Amino acid sequence: MPGNHVDLRSDTVTRPTAAMRQAMAEAEVGDEQRGEDPTVNALQARVAVMLGKEAGVFLPSGSMCNEIALLVHCRPGEEVISDRTAHIITSEGGGPAALAGAMVRPLDGEAGVYSPEQLADAVRAVSRYAPRSRLAVVEQTSNQGGGTIWPLETIEAVGETARAHGLLLHMDGARLLNAVVESGVDAARYAAPFDSVWVDFSKGLGCPVGAVLAGSAEFIEAAWQWKQRLGGSMRQSGILAAAGLYALDHNVARLAEDHANARSLADKVRALPQLTLDQSRVDSNLVFFDCADTGLSASDLSDALRAKGVLIGAMSRHRLRAVTHLDVDAAAVDAAGEALEAVVGG
Ligand SMILES: *Cc1c(COP(=O)(O)O)cnc(C)c1O
Repeated sequence: MPGNHVDLRSDTVTRPTAAMRQAMAEAEVGDEQRGEDPTVNALQARVAVMLGKEAGVFLPSGSMCNEIALLVHCRPGEEVISDRTAHIITSEGGGPAALAGAMVRPLDGEAGVYSPEQLADAVRAVSRYAPRSRLAVVEQTSNQGGGTIWPLETIEAVGETARAHGLLLHMDGARLLNAVVESGVDAARYAAPFDSVWVDFSKGLGCPVGAVLAGSAEFIEAAWQWKQRLGGSMRQSGILAAAGLYALDHNVARLAEDHANARSLADKVRALPQLTLDQSRVDSNLVFFDCADTGLSASDLSDALRAKGVLIGAMSRHRLRAVTHLDVDAAAVDAAGEALEAVVGG
């Protein structure tokens, strides 16, 4: 759509480049459900290795990765523990309740990151009254927390706490590779404590569709049955997986540019007294800010920016989110900063 707009609503708005489309067009394909699509098989294997897991399964979306992981890990009535900002709570249509029948226990973490102590305190004693605490979820990076990177020490401590209490552990790694590029910590290292973990291809990696969920061979076999049951099994989906392979080769290291652009945008927000940066630091490609002091609602500000050719999403009454990605360069971020200044600074 937004033609010559600077579109900062999400890193999902990226469109596949000519070179990515070329890779897709040339993909060798087969019937994925039968295990006969060589490109899907290659992507699954590559992601499993990258994440240090035995196996992977290609799924249409990250949301389906989360929901299938919950379905495999949890029985109805069991409890999942996550930060209160987690995507499984805010943005999956109540999937944990509707599909796995799980309760979600939200923790009041710091910028989307909860502590091992908070996790330990939330685990319920086993009794006939209480739901069984089954699974802890970590979102790396935390989306609504402000693109926060979970430090490796926190992840490892949370992993130890989860194990000590007999909990399973799942990573929503929609933007795990943003954390990897920014921190220099290997993806497999971050993923090591987790029973299941996935990465999204349709966010900063620039693909049109797809995510890969990884875990033990047994976990992935169970995930495959849910994929089939939910109608997520596909056919010649190698044409989509080819984009993922292309992205792993070409679009990972460049995520650093998105982070630099996000920091530059955050500086422009900080420089405008009418706006308040809604996070103490910018770890990755997400910039949240508050506009209460402008007298405008977030949606009014969003509309005013749109009129100046810049798309930034309203998240709540006074909170907006700007996301940098591979279709936004430094000049576009400068243009966004000028539009912000023109709308709120004048
Ligand atoms: C986008 C996102 C998802 C869902 O991924 P889709 O591919 O859009 O379904 C899950 N978790 C987080 C943290 C996300 O940002």
